[in-house]
This record gives sequence, C-alpha cells and structure tokens, in this order.
Amino acid sequence: MLKVGILGGGQLGRMLLQAAANYPVETFVMEDDAECPAAHLCHHFTKGSIRDFDAVYNFGKNLDAITIEIENVNVDALEKLEKEGVKVYPSPAVLRTIKNKILQKEYYQQHEIPTAGFKITLSRAELEASVDFLPAVHKLGEGGYDGKGVQMIKDAEAISLGFDAPSVLEKAVDIKKEIAQMVAINADGQTALYPPVEMLFDPDLNLLDYQLCPAEIDEKTLWKIEAISLSVVRNFKSPGLFAVELFVDKKGDVFVNETAPRVHNSGHHTIEAHYSSQFDMLWRIMLNYPLGNTAAILPSIMVNIIGADGHSGPVGYEGLEEMLKIDNAFVHLYGKQQTKPGRKMGHVTILSNDKQDLLHKSNKVKRMLLPVAKKS
Ligand code: ADP
Repeated sequence: MLKVGILGGGQLGRMLLQAAANYPVETFVMEDDAECPAAHLCHHFTKGSIRDFDAVYNFGKNLDAITIEIENVNVDALEKLEKEGVKVYPSPAVLRTIKNKILQKEYYQQHEIPTAGFKITLSRAELEASVDFLPAVHKLGEGGYDGKGVQMIKDAEAISLGFDAPSVLEKAVDIKKEIAQMVAINADGQTALYPPVEMLFDPDLNLLDYQLCPAEIDEKTLWKIEAISLSVVRNFKSPGLFAVELFVDKKGDVFVNETAPRVHNSGHHTIEAHYSSQFDMLWRIMLNYPLGNTAAILPSIMVNIIGADGHSGPVGYEGLEEMLKIDNAFVHLYGKQQTKPGRKMGHVTILSNDKQDLLHKSNKVKRMLLPVAKKS
C-alpha cells in the first residue's frame, strides 16, 4: 500500500481523507494542532510545524508521496524530498512560484496568460510613487490569505492602506463575474476539467460566501476560461489538482486572478454534485489511477457556514435539525472545536435542476444554520 502524507490538517485535509477511505492507501497528516479537523481521520498523525524544514523533511522521508492543503509550507524540505524520490503534488517548483504573488504574476506574464496589468512595489515609497497606476489592488507578495494582504486602492488618498513590503500593484478589473476552474492533470499530462463555478463574496468578510455550479456564462466565455486555465496548468509541468481563479470583466474579457495548486474551497460541491469529487480525483492522480469523471450529476450551490457574529468559544450549531429537513442539502461540519466570527466552520451543498430552488434553499440554509458559542 502506498504511504501518502498531507501537510496541513484543516477541512481540506479532512475531506481528502474521507475520500482516501475508498482506496488502498496509508495516510499521514502533519499539523501543529492535535485537535485539527483532519487529525482523527488519518492512519498516522504527527504534531509538527508544516513551515519547519526538519519537521517536514522527517515527516516526508519515509513516504511514497506527499501533498498539501495549504501553500504556506516549507518548500525547501519538499524540494529535498522530491530529489530523494518522494513524489510531491504539486511539484515544489510550482509551489514556490504560487506562494509568492510577485512570482506568480511574472509566471502568467512569461507564459502570455491573460492577467490584469501590474507593477511590483518593494516598499511604501515605491507604492506612493505609483499614483498614476490607480485605481489598483495592492497584494502582499507573501503571507496574505483569505483577503488579508489584499487592499483596494482607489485613489491617492487611499494609498496609506497599502503595504510597506514587496507587493504586486494590479490594475483594478471591472469585474462582472468571479469564476473558479478546477483542472486535474496526471503524470502523463492527461487533463480533466470540471465545469467552472461562479463565486459570490461576502463584501464585509471578503470570504467566499456561496457559489453556483455551473457558472452562468456564454459558450465563448467558457471556451476562454477553459483554454486559459489549461494553459496555466500545462505550463506548470506538474501533476496535481489546480483551482484557477479568474475574472470575467464587463467587456467579456477573461483574466487569471490566481491559482491554488491543491484541493480548494471552490470544489467542495463536487463531493455530492459530481461523479468524481476533487478529493477523489487527487487520489486517482497520486495513486496513478485513471482520471475520474468530472461531469455534474446535478447543478449545485455551495454555501459556506461561517462563525456567527458576536460568538467566540466552544461551538454549537443552531438550526442543524431544521436544515437537515431540506431536500438534497448535504452538510459538512469540519469538526473545529472553537467558533469565532467569520471562521469557516463547515459548508452545505444543495443540488437541484431549478436555479430558483437552489437560490431559495441556499439563502434559507445561510440564515438557518449558525455556528454559535455554546452556553455553558
Ligand atoms: P486572496 O489570495 O487573499 O484570496 P485575491 O487575490 O483572490 O486574494 O483577492 C481577493 C479579492 O479581491 C478577489 O476575489 C476580488 O474580489 C478582489 N480583487 C483581487 N484582484 C482584483 C483586481 N485586479 N481588480 C478588482 N478586484 C480584485
């Protein structure tokens, strides 16, 4: 049986392990919290820092393959492991490019992949000298996540919002839709594309709120999205699963925003709504099986279940029983012990052929199912 490790023990690792249970594979997880969402579902759990060279190297050296559920891992250790014959998904070189938003933008530019125009600012002073580039979005090169490290700068007055560290200053796109395209690619270079999803954001939290699959786009836009995403992934020359995030602007032009080289929030719906889920697909790739069927069984909406405002502490779920009465709605609670405002605690996927039904039920779920602090 192959031994496969996952760096990171959050909800993505947890769902990856749920899919692993169907295959002959021995699973290993490393995370610095023994109570993390994935800890109880793997065969072997190691408590350790995924950012530490020795911890990652020692965790990986006896494994056949290793993958990640978050980009912020020790890439030097993964490089050494790769040299010693451990298969790494995605390749450490890809991880290095993607981890840093400056290198990632340069990658798109080098491969002539459409992306919003940008310049690099190494300091606040360089940002202040870039007033003629506004309105723009300032993005911290390294260390940002979930919208932290991304700042819209509309005009000169807003420039103090920017970062005093190496960053990308990117032209503001007049966004019509935000799309995510999942692409699977195996060691032979064979690819499979999921139908793209359309994302809607909570403007206050800057967190993915809910998403519709398939995205409502015309055929020409779909072709552009598919061609651009394939080009992003093929040029990486690494097997794995990739989520390419794109903008469609009001003129119908398509730009790559960023790529996640791993299972991703935008693919959660594939667990129930598609024949082969993103998690199933990554195992197929890592275990050298044929790629799965990406087609949708039914259209779907995925709703993130986010920690309720004003609630911090050991979590309880208000409205869970009521929510479970809804037809074709599937709940995933991530097993996090503590809730806090804005924390991703779970998601619900709803399936239906009728878009009104999807919208109606997803709004109901969002209002009904609330992670709150348990009264002691
Ligand atoms: P993160 O890596 O934190 O998810 P993103 O680069 O995806 O950050 O940006 C977060 C959000 O900011 C995007 O989903 C989008 O709504 C907005 N955004 C990012 N870049 C641009 C841009 N060039 N023009 C307009 N809006 C943008």
